[in-house]
Formats: sequence, C-alpha cells, structure tokens
Amino acid sequence: MNKHLSQLIEIANLDKEIDSFEPRIGEVKKELNLIEEEENSLNREIEDLESASRDLSLSIQKNENHLEDLSLKLEEIANKTKLIRTEKESRALSLEEELAKEQITFANEEITRLNTLIDSKKDSINALKEQIDSLQVKQKEVAQKVEVEVQEIKDEQNKIFAQKEELVGKMDQKIISFYEKIRKWAKNSSVVPVTRQACGGCFIRINDKIYSDIIRSDDIITCPHCGRILYFQEENTNP
Ligand SMILES: [Zn+2]
Repeated sequence: MNKHLSQLIEIANLDKEIDSFEPRIGEVKKELNLIEEEENSLNREIEDLESASRDLSLSIQKNENHLEDLSLKLEEIANKTKLIRTEKESRALSLEEELAKEQITFANEEITRLNTLIDSKKDSINALKEQIDSLQVKQKEVAQKVEVEVQEIKDEQNKIFAQKEELVGKMDQKIISFYEKIRKWAKNSSVVPVTRQACGGCFIRINDKIYSDIIRSDDIITCPHCGRILYFQEENTNP
C-alpha cells in the first residue's frame, strides 16, 4: 500500500481514538452531575419554604397590627362607657365591645395557627439542610474518585496525542492539511474503507475503474461522490 495512504489510515484511527475519550470523561462525571442536580433541587425547595415562611410572617404582622387597633378600640369604648346617659347607648357600646373582643380572639387564634405553620416549615427546612449536608459528604467522595478516573483517561488520551504528533511530524504536510480539510466536515469518517464496491462514508457505488485503482492502493483516492479518502480493505477480515 502507498505509504501516505497507510499513514492517513493510521492518523484517522488515532483521531477516532482521541475523540472516543470525551464521552468516557462525560460518563465518569455523570454521577457527580447527578449529585449537583439533586443539591440544586433541594436548595430550590428550601428557597420555596423560606419564601412561604416570609409570607406567613407578614400575615402574622398584619394580625398583630389589627390587635393593636382593636385594643385601642376597647380603650375608646371604655372611655365612652363612662359618659353613657341612656340604656340604648349602653347596649350599642356593649355590642361594639363584644364584637371587638371576638375579633381579638380570632386574630390571636390566627397568629397561633400561622406560627404552627412557620414551625413546620422550619422543620422541613432543617430536614432538607441535613439532606444537603450528607449529600455534600457524598459529593466530596465522588469528586475525588472522578478526579482520579478523569486523570487516568486524560493520561491515556495524551499518549495517543503524542503518537499522533509523532506521526504528523513524519508525514507529508500537504497530505495532512488535505486530510484536515476533509475532517472538518467528515469528522471520524474522513478515511473510510470501500465495502462491496461502495464508499464507506456516503455508501454510493464506486465505478469499476476507480474501484480497481483503489484496490491497487498506489495513490490516495477520494470518493467521486462525497470526497472522503477511500482505501481497500479485504472484506470479512475486519468486521
Ligand atoms: Zn463517498
């Protein structure tokens, strides 16, 4: 086989191998990403609970303001009571007093109810914070493991890089740049074998003349249909 062609096949294989490392790194990091997502969603739950608590506190404040108004009102009624002249006035005032007292009872009950709700939100927040704490412990362990694994993969990747660099140094630079141009669009199918007399990239049939040139492997031949670099490979030897 033509030396340039066999180098191209080799370099294409190295590029394919280099590309195969990124998904492996992604796979290793997946566990870490899942933990981070879980932590984020717990934090969002806490934020929701805190915002609900703030709303409840505002409602309590409103009820407390109302209680102040009501106690002023009771004072007012007490002062008026001193000046009562008729039975009718007396009845009207005691009705007013009764109503104000009812409202005070209601506001106090409401404050108690709201405080209970706030307490239960606080409990939920604390439980979530505990979950986050243990998640962070786990996250640290996983991060350490992932770091080691990623480094291993990167070391392997660097070895292949070095092999590629070495090969590129030995190759004809015009051929390399020709290959890189094809690789821009054809990615890992820039150099493909011909199978059953069809291009391994676009799968269109190659005519007999070009096919016999490819079998002879004297030259670098590109697919007349798509432009990928083609080479002959004995069928069934490399399934
Ligand atoms: Zn083709």
